[in-house]
Amino acid sequence: MQPTETIPPASIAGPSAVKPPLRSHCPICDSNRLHYSFSHQSHRVMRCENCALMFLNPQPSDRELSEIYTAEYFLGHDSDEGRRNSSELKRATARQYLAELTRYNGTPSGRLIEVGCGEGDFLCEAEASGYDVLGVEYAPAACATANKRLQRGRVEQGELADAKLPDSHFDVCVLNDVIEHVRDPLAFLREIRRILRPGGALFIATPCLDSWSAKLMKERWMEWKPEHLTYFNKANIQTALLKAGFEDVIVQPGWKILSFDYVQAHFEKFPVPLFTPAVRLLGKMLPSSVKRKQRRIVASGMMVFSRKAEETRERLSVIVPAFNEANTIRPMMDALVAKEIAGMEIEIIVVESNSTDGTREIVKQYAAHPRVKVILEEKPRGKGRAVRTGLAAATGKYVLIQDADLEYDMEDYDTLVGALVSGRHAFVLGSRHGGRNLWKMRQFTGQRSLSSYLNLGHWLFTTMINVLFWKRLRDPFTMFKVFRRDCLYGLRFECNRFDFDFELLIRLMQKGYTPAEIPVNYRSRSFKEGKKVSMWRDPLTWLAALARLRTSKVDPLAEIAHSRTAQPATEASPLSAEPALAHR
Ligand SMILES: [Zn+2]
Repeated sequence: MQPTETIPPASIAGPSAVKPPLRSHCPICDSNRLHYSFSHQSHRVMRCENCALMFLNPQPSDRELSEIYTAEYFLGHDSDEGRRNSSELKRATARQYLAELTRYNGTPSGRLIEVGCGEGDFLCEAEASGYDVLGVEYAPAACATANKRLQRGRVEQGELADAKLPDSHFDVCVLNDVIEHVRDPLAFLREIRRILRPGGALFIATPCLDSWSAKLMKERWMEWKPEHLTYFNKANIQTALLKAGFEDVIVQPGWKILSFDYVQAHFEKFPVPLFTPAVRLLGKMLPSSVKRKQRRIVASGMMVFSRKAEETRERLSVIVPAFNEANTIRPMMDALVAKEIAGMEIEIIVVESNSTDGTREIVKQYAAHPRVKVILEEKPRGKGRAVRTGLAAATGKYVLIQDADLEYDMEDYDTLVGALVSGRHAFVLGSRHGGRNLWKMRQFTGQRSLSSYLNLGHWLFTTMINVLFWKRLRDPFTMFKVFRRDCLYGLRFECNRFDFDFELLIRLMQKGYTPAEIPVNYRSRSFKEGKKVSMWRDPLTWLAALARLRTSKVDPLAEIAHSRTAQPATEASPLSAEPALAHR
């Protein structure tokens, strides 16, 4: 454990009994919309209404924490046998984490640091698997035990800052059940970033507010503890990492290797009404062989993987797929190069697919503009393919896809991108209607039956998506899809035509990003004005895509591992620029 990070060393008078000042802003997203949620053992738990972070406010004083972090706290078990069993389970969990880390980061080698390494169970396994290891541990007794157990590695006693570690030194950093204990998680992550080399990996295991146990037990969740100062969910841990200068974030359910005996001991030590008696009763009924058996279960945590980003500028990449848009491309591009968003760089990536109407010549005139990157495709391979090519070339933190026509209003950019910048959402859709006018969305003069056909199709496909993926979206097919580029990491795309819209939306949802729908201004074009959706062919490809997407699972770590073996290339850039991975 590294519980007292950033707390100044105790003075002669002992740790201070003064609580830190009450926070008026969220420690992650800085929003001031903080609401009192409930009290746990007289500590107030607050919730940020912007990013859903939960945290103790005010935090306990140094003295309160030092009374919790006694020598026994770090040992965990009273008997030798209990400690041996607990260590075996920790080792088994460590092997599991290391296997996942290898999928994320490749062969175990290089320098690994674990902050808050306890008695060194994880470090011993990491050392055995091939890393050169260093630990930092606050508790002297645990530190001494760890040093005895390690072969080549060592553990320094103290806080992370005491270790005076050099910049850009480590290849991997591991935080096992630590980040929830630190007083300022963002500052802590920035310090970790400093000691990692560019592209170095960070692994975090921490309790998760989205876990089944948190949802089931609510205020009785076993992770509510006075020494757990911050509680993340799958979304705001990503916000925290991106803000601290990390990227390529992958969040997975936190598998741990546990036995019934261990769980029972935990519930005895940290009693939870109803649960502790229930577990005790079960313990009396089960044979001891069953109670000792190691099982791989998801309990209350998550595993989070990320890498140190080299660049952390606020930049929006606008992807413009252009094919036969000679009538509208110029005014659209003029508006786009003139568009400003406060505090945000804008990068425009036009992918032109060898139009036959002069669009290519117009696009080329913008190639010299400092904001514009033009990619010329040899032949049209579909809008989806063009967008994928654009995504592969994007470098911004945020991505927006802009059609080369005038159906949408650029004034809406600010609201949509703002929702990402504030940390409130990772993925937003600009919704074209508020739900009431569902049947009126497309009204082309003199083309009533066509409008009805399209509106029926829209309703049908929206319903199918909502039923198949258990969502309540109103307008999943809007062009206005705006998301953090990092969301794409570990996803592979295959669709080339308009079915890519489905694929992008569904893969992001399967990876865990449910889009927020924000109303935008919209003017529909008729087919005469050049709408390029085919009336029959496209709905059929959509159905095929839906069936394929619904029946296939998303496994980002497998994709990342696969892309590494497919492209051994350089150590620093494990992922190729191949459009299929759409990132890097
Ligand atoms: Zn917040």
